[in-house]
Amino acid sequence: MNNPLLEPFEQAPFSKIKNEHFKPAFLQAMDDARKEIDEIVDNPEPPTFRNTLEALDFAGQQLDRISSIFFNLNSAETNEEIQKIAQEVSPLLSEFSNDIILNQGLFERIKTVYEQRDSLELTPEQYTLLDKKYKSFSRNGANLNETDKKRLREIDAELSKLKLKFGENVLAETNKYELLITDEEDLKGLPEGTVEAAAQLAESKEKKGWLITLEYPSYIPFMKYAENRELRKKLSIAFGSKGFHNDELDNQQNVLKIVNLRFERANLLGYPTHADFVLEERMAETPAKVLEFLNELLTKAKPAAEREFTELETYAKELDGIDCLEKWDSAYYSEKLKQKLFNLDDEKLKPYFKLENVINGVFLVAEKLFGLKFKEVTNVEKYHPEVKTYEVYDDANNFISLFYADFHPRPGKRDGAWMTSFKSQYTLNGKNSRPHISNVCNFTRSTSTKPSLLTFNEVTTLFHEFGHGLHGMLANTTYPSLSGTSVYWDFVELPSQVMENWCYEKEALELFAHHYETGELIPMELVEKIKESANFQEGMATVRQLSFGFLDMAWHGKDPTNIKDVKAYETEAFKSTNLFPETPETCMSTSFSHIFQGGYSSGYYSYKWAEVLDADAFAYFKENGIFSREIANKFREHVLSKGGTENPMELYKRFRGAEPNIDALLERAGLLKS
Ligand SMILES: [Zn+2]
Repeated sequence: MNNPLLEPFEQAPFSKIKNEHFKPAFLQAMDDARKEIDEIVDNPEPPTFRNTLEALDFAGQQLDRISSIFFNLNSAETNEEIQKIAQEVSPLLSEFSNDIILNQGLFERIKTVYEQRDSLELTPEQYTLLDKKYKSFSRNGANLNETDKKRLREIDAELSKLKLKFGENVLAETNKYELLITDEEDLKGLPEGTVEAAAQLAESKEKKGWLITLEYPSYIPFMKYAENRELRKKLSIAFGSKGFHNDELDNQQNVLKIVNLRFERANLLGYPTHADFVLEERMAETPAKVLEFLNELLTKAKPAAEREFTELETYAKELDGIDCLEKWDSAYYSEKLKQKLFNLDDEKLKPYFKLENVINGVFLVAEKLFGLKFKEVTNVEKYHPEVKTYEVYDDANNFISLFYADFHPRPGKRDGAWMTSFKSQYTLNGKNSRPHISNVCNFTRSTSTKPSLLTFNEVTTLFHEFGHGLHGMLANTTYPSLSGTSVYWDFVELPSQVMENWCYEKEALELFAHHYETGELIPMELVEKIKESANFQEGMATVRQLSFGFLDMAWHGKDPTNIKDVKAYETEAFKSTNLFPETPETCMSTSFSHIFQGGYSSGYYSYKWAEVLDADAFAYFKENGIFSREIANKFREHVLSKGGTENPMELYKRFRGAEPNIDALLERAGLLKS
């Protein structure tokens, strides 16, 4: 069979690909990759960096290309057939990568090279590649004896079951709960759309009245707008007690089992705690450093948070005679106070942000900073006619990257916005092979009478994803696994978040924020208002984020063997961050899916960490002019082009001249005012 995915191609050959090509292509490419790896292992020559590490990093390239095409389609333009193929090939792909990680012969060769690492005169990038590859094996138990290896596999199997169970319980709790409202009075304050949705939901379940659930689109507006305080309390407690009812959906034992197994796993591999294990491959490096970071921010944010809390409590007392502000009052009175202070409306801003103007704006920003030029082209194949394609060139007219942009929602596209690639950058046999990068969003489409107009939030989203895009486009490394966004978790949001800063700057807005009918520039007092409202209750929000970081570290940064009472342990961990009275009926840990089901264990701090980085980096631009070519070049040279080739702290220091400092974030967030 002629399969376009198995022939050599530079650009993804979308017009030739049919769904039935995928599975045979995957199977063939996996087979080929296995053979390439066997050749490395069976090589009679003694292992060297070149014949083992380099060979391994360039093995399976066709498989990588097929995977990226397929999974990008599954996110942006899927259908039942593609979803079915995904279910079939996903287990095969995990088996494939497991086989590599468990390949003892391969590990022995890597280990031999690793043990000679200091006498090999490797470049920093080669050293990093060796270190990362070695650790990808050792962190999975390659150095353990057979008994310990067996135990490690048991723990991994048990953990994946428990994580699944944890998530299923949270989901079942969410789906199980409903608040049926039969008295119209109880709907007071709710927006029309929420009331309508609640009526429709009740009708669909053949109930009379209105149904409110724990799903965000129902829960959030109710907590923000419902005047009935008792019902807010009821709903808030239901939301906060998921997995905490001592029934078959209870997660307390699952939490304890998960943290104990993670601890045991870390110990087996030679780490004092799970957090030590995780943080070894993060910019923050150690639990001590994370705690120091959280505590430093807490010291600075707490006074602001307490001030804001008092302000909110006073406002609630004035308005409704509330004596003691509870958790279920927070969103409600905050929303009212915010309206009173800012009265900002998306509709007022949208005419200044026509999609085409914003895209043009982000391209102009990239041109001013990095000399990049985006040329729209029509000779590149695409997976949907709506996708736009660009060739990107630098000032010297060198080809930098291919850029795909896919902006509007379609039935086959998942929610949200993201950056991805169809091909990563690498250098092979002296040739720098340039990347193919894509941004995918879900912005409202234009109509026959109105262009696509973005909310301010969507504008920052576009800049954010474009920042990830630049990280991919400007990549300049040798090895594909270290290229572009292949960096530590707590470093990857720096290029994206830093780009958002330009959206608040007059010099940048002048490039694109013009009214789509009158051409008038967005009034600066509106921009000031956006900035101020973005900082509204920033102290409280920061302390809340920190509390989750502390809880995460409490579960993962210590020996958990003696913890018996989940709620009591959690209460202790929240002690330094509490603002509201304690609610005995609720428990955060039993539904904290980020850390017990998702990949955020010992990583929750990274949200704030990334903000510190981006504020500190942007402050450097501000000190020198937001379009300073000198600073932009440094950012490109030391951060954007380097990918994961060196420790991110070293890269950052080379760019900034110092480690990141939290003051820029405090300043930007208005937390330094007293
Ligand atoms: Zn991001």
